[in-house]
Amino acid sequence: MKKSIEDYDLYNKKIIIRVDFNVPIKDNKILDDNRIVSSLKTIKYAIKKGAKVILMSHLGRIKEESDKSKNSLEPISIRLSELLNQKVYFVKNTRGEELEKAIDNLKNGEVLLMENTRFEDLNNKGESSNDINLGKYWASLGDIFINDAFGTSHRSHASNVGIASNLPSGVGFLIEKELNSFKILDNPKRPYTVILGGSKVEDKIGVIENLVKVSDYILVGGAMAYTFLKTMGYNVGSSLIDYNSIDFCTKILKQYKDKIILPVDSICSKKIDGEIEEKNNDEFEDDDIGLDIGSKTIENFKNIIEKSNTIVWNGPLGYFEIDKYSKGTKEILKSLDNSKIVIIGGGDTASAAINFGYKDKFTHISTGGGASLELLEGKKLPGIEVIDDK
Ligand code: AMP
Repeated sequence: MKKSIEDYDLYNKKIIIRVDFNVPIKDNKILDDNRIVSSLKTIKYAIKKGAKVILMSHLGRIKEESDKSKNSLEPISIRLSELLNQKVYFVKNTRGEELEKAIDNLKNGEVLLMENTRFEDLNNKGESSNDINLGKYWASLGDIFINDAFGTSHRSHASNVGIASNLPSGVGFLIEKELNSFKILDNPKRPYTVILGGSKVEDKIGVIENLVKVSDYILVGGAMAYTFLKTMGYNVGSSLIDYNSIDFCTKILKQYKDKIILPVDSICSKKIDGEIEEKNNDEFEDDDIGLDIGSKTIENFKNIIEKSNTIVWNGPLGYFEIDKYSKGTKEILKSLDNSKIVIIGGGDTASAAINFGYKDKFTHISTGGGASLELLEGKKLPGIEVIDDK
């Protein structure tokens, strides 16, 4: 078990909290402040306990000097200040005297936000390659390190692994919730069903290999289903195929043919913005593109979901960004009632669940795409492994 923020006496201490403020920003305007709002619980707790709060986050990618202005955390400091209803000191640097002085001047309960950690990527990728000296330097600015950025925990960066290697550390409330939710899957109430979708099989091979052994059913939709169907000899027309994964699909289908449930029909079109038609697997023409699961498949999936007690879902079941191909994803979301344990992986599936009105309806909607995928693959996340044990 990892230490949490609650395991430390924060009073009069400089607490570095790695948050995830990687929010969409356009022309200095925040388009969605969900991630800032989600971090408030941990920040407010540290304020209440009388800590001097130092916040660090990345935003976007910094490859050249010109990437800096559009990826500054300054607009976020303004929004955070509104949400906390108190001043947030923003420091435009990621190192140096101005930063060090501002930290020294912090009083108990005050909050400071440092500029985007990835500005350091212009110095030999210091942040993203976990430069040892950078991690040590950032650690020297505080007394305790709290990691609450789940979305980057699968990466070994200076602002998570680097700092944590040099300070007493713990996780914040957001990461604690993520870990507790995924832990349910170690001992799932059965039947345990995995729903997988999205575009490429290749990205989900690790998840399939890990979960096929422990789950009762794997329902496959999205574009990735067509790679499986192709290996079974169906003509899948012009659907998206992941040729690198043909051998994997053949092997896994042979081994687990009763567990892996594939679509029997699809919503097809000859072009993305064309007329749609529902077709069975054996009715595809060469120019048909499968863009969503069909109504018989929805029924089959619903029947399995109805008898399941634990469900984990990663990847949309169709090209859900376009309304006419979102029915499969929506219908399956609708069928997940709250008597079941439902865990939704991050990334596209989380956006679909939130945008289609299911924000608070499930056991857990993960905030991290890559990180949740790696947990489902059974991997350890470096940003969490490095945190002190209780
Ligand atoms: P992934 O990042 O692999 O989880 O893939 C997510 C993307 O797959 C989303 O943008 C979906 O719109 C897309 N997707 C899902 N099903 C299909 C499909 N049948 N054809 C094309 N794209 C799809």
